[in-house]
Amino acid sequence: MTTERTLGLIKPDGLERGKQGQILDVILKKGFKIVAMKQLRLTKAQAEGFYAEHSARPFFASLCEYMTSGPIIALALEKENAIADWRTLMGATNPEKADPGTIRKEFAVDLEKNTVHGSDSSQSAHREVPYFFSALER
Ligand code: UDP
Ligand code: MG
Repeated sequence: MTTERTLGLIKPDGLERGKQGQILDVILKKGFKIVAMKQLRLTKAQAEGFYAEHSARPFFASLCEYMTSGPIIALALEKENAIADWRTLMGATNPEKADPGTIRKEFAVDLEKNTVHGSDSSQSAHREVPYFFSALER
């Protein structure tokens, strides 16, 4: 296995309900190194650009509105096998289907407000980490 970096986001519902401390604690306890972190609020255009792959989906407009509804925390996470391991720790997109012990099972509100994002592949990670962090920040 090789050391990888992936993008994590704590979405607006996580910050709104004050869950960011508990989520960061889980991330660190699972052995991820936080190599970059910042809190920000996305503009509509930034949210649409980030989720461009979903632009034709029926949930796209609502997703972008939700993702701009409050601040988020962006994380560049590093460890061996980080991309797959972060997806595993997040749990299924639909929290009702997420395994016990996953962040979404523990913290998510519903299918849209599911508390965290993670890059789904090496290709996505290579696009998404620089979407949030400049070369000087990571
Ligand atoms: N989403 C939604 N309705 C759906 C599917 C997805 O609102 O039917 C939202 C949800 O917040 C999800 C995001 O859109 O996390 C991106 O969807 P994707 O399928 O990429 O899921 P993820 O990679 O986040 O698990
Ligand atoms: Mg996805």
